[in-house]
Amino acid sequence: MSDNKSNAVSKCRVCGAGIAAFMSFGRMPIANGFLRAEEIADEYFFELAPAFCESCTMFQIVEQPDPKKMFHENYAFFSSTSRHMQTHFAGFAKAVIDKHLSGRKDPFVVELGSNDGIMLRNFHALGMRHLGIEPSVNVADVARGHGINTISEFFGPQLADKVVAEYGQADVIQCANVMCHIPDLPGVAAGVTRLLKPDGVFIFEDPYLGAMIEKTSYDQIYDEHVFIFSVTNVARAFALHGLELVDAEPQTTHGGSMRYTLAPKGSRTVSANVATLLQKERGQGLDRPEIYAQFKRNCEKSRTDLMSLLEDLRRQGKRVVGYGATSKSTTVTNYCGITPQHVEFISDTTPIKQGKLSPGAHIPVKPYAEFERAFPDYALLFAWNHATEIREKEQAFIAAGGRWITFVPDVKIVS
Ligand SMILES: [Zn+2]
Repeated sequence: MSDNKSNAVSKCRVCGAGIAAFMSFGRMPIANGFLRAEEIADEYFFELAPAFCESCTMFQIVEQPDPKKMFHENYAFFSSTSRHMQTHFAGFAKAVIDKHLSGRKDPFVVELGSNDGIMLRNFHALGMRHLGIEPSVNVADVARGHGINTISEFFGPQLADKVVAEYGQADVIQCANVMCHIPDLPGVAAGVTRLLKPDGVFIFEDPYLGAMIEKTSYDQIYDEHVFIFSVTNVARAFALHGLELVDAEPQTTHGGSMRYTLAPKGSRTVSANVATLLQKERGQGLDRPEIYAQFKRNCEKSRTDLMSLLEDLRRQGKRVVGYGATSKSTTVTNYCGITPQHVEFISDTTPIKQGKLSPGAHIPVKPYAEFERAFPDYALLFAWNHATEIREKEQAFIAAGGRWITFVPDVKIVS
């Protein structure tokens, strides 16, 4: 175990009020830190513990690992490898163009965390002025290879000023599954207010807190997700920077996401969706601590149920294989205490993960061909957010007598 340089906070990253963890998922490795056997001795751990800020209602993890451990040069998550996400981002881009850019003269679109250009290619194809900001150099290179104008820097007020000097202010600033990764939310908000035109919009989407609480999908909580957003906490966080939440639209991606549209205060009519969702969240209790105490109990029950099922199957000598070596699965395997005695291996189609071990739990990751070669009795569905596509695809597994184990929203066996 490496020395742990603690990045734990005792104050809310958004409003500065005192915060404390309401539960702990225990000692946790880097979620995407798939490793070789010889690297086990140096594996890095931190404590994964979420907190709820009673002052501004932001949900956040207390300690985040050293970013250098998380976003090293081998870090290569290419958005475009998922056809489902390609379709989703084409739809996102179309909505942005239809609602905010049509009729504008020579509009300029900026994307934060633009990855390999999966979303900006839709603007590029229409000849629109665009700029991707992608700190991962190797990922940015791929985007540039597709003709997407990209710079590799971290976004904040300084970079915002530099971009304005070179390109002018932006009509739209957008990002997807990026805002929740950035600890310095005030810095990004300050940058956005400088870069955005007075009649521009800032649009982002991320996994949704309301869905996570409702489904006990605690595997949304891992090192990269420093915040889990709700309509309530986004409205409050950005109001501190003069940005008003003018729309919020639920999305089905990542097991339940929300798309937020913000604009300089008073510049736009606020959609009725905002009031409706704020009221729904008050009804759910997302703005009060009690719901998080309940969430903790729900997580503990989920863990107990999953482990008693896996223990039963192990005693019966059944073969269980994990399906999808996702970042999210790291929280589940480590929090629950799943070992290679419970799950023989995890099947995954990503070449860079194959032949390695899962972080912390050290379950071998094997190519998909291994899953097909000899179907197990049970497949533990780590990629539960893609359950519909996966269950459609894997009909031969079911025909051979295989069964799925799911744990969101409840632990159960399904065919
Ligand atoms: Zn706060």
